[in-house]
Amino acid sequence: VGEPSEQWLEYQGANTGASLECRGWRQEAALRMLNNNLDPEVAEDPESLVVYGGTGRAARSWDAYEGICAQLRDLGDEETLLVQSGKPVGRFETHERAPRVLIANSNLVGRWDDWEHFHELESKGLIMYGQMTAGSWAYIGTQGIIQGTYETLAELARQHFPDNRGLEGKIVVTAGLGGMGGAQPLAVTMNHGVCIAADVDERRIERRLETEYCQERAPDLETAIERATAAAESGEAYSVAVHMNAADMLEAMNERGFVPDVITDQTSAHDELEGYYPSGYTVEEADALRDRDPEAYVEASLETMERHVDGILAMQEAGAIAFEYGNNIRGQVADHRDHERAFDFPGFVPAYIRPLFCAGKGPFRWVALSGDPADIHRTDDAVRELFPEKDHLRRWIDLAQEQVAFQGLPSRVCWLGFSRDDDGLTERARFALRINELVADGEISAPVVVTRDHLDAGSVASPNRETEAMRDGSDAVADWPILNALLNTAAGADIVSVHDGGGVGIGNSLHTNNHIVLDGTDLAAEKARRVFTTDPGMGVIRHADAGYDEALEEAWDSDVTIPMGGD
Ligand code: NAD
Repeated sequence: VGEPSEQWLEYQGANTGASLECRGWRQEAALRMLNNNLDPEVAEDPESLVVYGGTGRAARSWDAYEGICAQLRDLGDEETLLVQSGKPVGRFETHERAPRVLIANSNLVGRWDDWEHFHELESKGLIMYGQMTAGSWAYIGTQGIIQGTYETLAELARQHFPDNRGLEGKIVVTAGLGGMGGAQPLAVTMNHGVCIAADVDERRIERRLETEYCQERAPDLETAIERATAAAESGEAYSVAVHMNAADMLEAMNERGFVPDVITDQTSAHDELEGYYPSGYTVEEADALRDRDPEAYVEASLETMERHVDGILAMQEAGAIAFEYGNNIRGQVADHRDHERAFDFPGFVPAYIRPLFCAGKGPFRWVALSGDPADIHRTDDAVRELFPEKDHLRRWIDLAQEQVAFQGLPSRVCWLGFSRDDDGLTERARFALRINELVADGEISAPVVVTRDHLDAGSVASPNRETEAMRDGSDAVADWPILNALLNTAAGADIVSVHDGGGVGIGNSLHTNNHIVLDGTDLAAEKARRVFTTDPGMGVIRHADAGYDEALEEAWDSDVTIPMGGD
């Protein structure tokens, strides 16, 4: 990727305040979001342009980064910049209501859509891994995933421990304390439970301790188990990290007869070469092996993944609740090791999230371009004022204010859905329009960008994750995310992107994202009203089409037109 650019070294994050470097707020927002992704507080390895999720990058090279920044500074209000796998490739006159930036990352033609071709093209400098929010400039650090992780675990507790005490007294074992996985210990303690989390990389453990996502590090596994067991017995919320390989940890636990209540994983198993670490090597040794002999690395990595999955299955047989947390470890082991039982434990979407998707609910996120935390606190109040009947949303906002540290530009996440009111406004639109008013009135000091994860109700086709086990078998149909991106472009989103790969690896998913800049103008209100109807609306129609009653009911209640949706 070359050497870090001088501009980036000087900035080390997004510009803040109300004065512009670009010709308008929409372009300025794109520039600040790109730089926010690469803020050292936000990104996992910004000098390599890596934001999170293995090798998820914000730009293809430092030259491409400079090119994007220069284009954004010069881009007019009636122009659109095209970014192809992290490189600016064209700029056309469009119109004011069109997106300012259109992005396509990591996409390959079906027959070539695998890691082998991807790596070949990557080594020629022709393509970049955009993960999900890395290449679409919507990553906001571990705070972006925390509510999703919290909600998933809360739903798990509701289904399996129905005494209404969340995860109190329960031990969750997991691994992977990276950009996303690092949210797990805090999400467990927010649900009053106990978490033991392994990572092979000490720097990742230190980072989660510094940002208070994890409470302690144990000197060894024995101590971690003792402390976790004592905390669970006394009903205390507690999290502890151990420095070791996940497969080794699970084997040691199984040998010792230690069965946690819940077992999952968020190592970067979607990428066997640059994400997952094989057992028997330190991080430095493994990195050297990867450079020296990538084939041997992949072989060792997949072998460890198989042991890791066997460890999860053994715990499941002994009574633990097991689920895959969106890193495709089951698919990897089934495809490359011919493991027949890899899919014997479910993915988190069919197990815990799909009912939310049916109602168009997903991880809505917003970012204060001013850099002022007070602006996010004002939006927190707006959530409480607008949705007074939603107790769990209020509880979430209280918890987030109290326990989630800002990283980079102050931001917040909150799951909102479709659910139209009497004025025909969806939950997401109501909230966005309120923020726009607060910007217009000066109660918020600069524009706010609203965006979301690619993992959303109507924006992904991913047979091992978001669309696993769809009721009608349409798991691999990828027309839906493409329609989502086209529709949101037509509705006037300010940035729209389409990616391949993401959390589950090349060839395993297509997904999209969009941003809207709320600058207090009527134009922003018009765009927000449309996009925050079309975007969650895609979730409703996608799930209604697959035959989910909850989605058909939502469509009926919210007056969504489904031409062949029955009565
Ligand atoms: P990351 O690359 O930032 O972190 C992965 C971590 O796993 C690293 O700290 C690494 O040291 C550790 N690791 C790798 N192999 C290991 C092993 N064998 N044993 C112990 N530790 C090991 O990635 P991330 O952003 O945290 O994402 C993690 C995974 O979750 C990815 O596969 C990603 O695609 C997926 N993901 C899931 C969701 C979701 O909603 N569930 C969202 C985003 C990403």
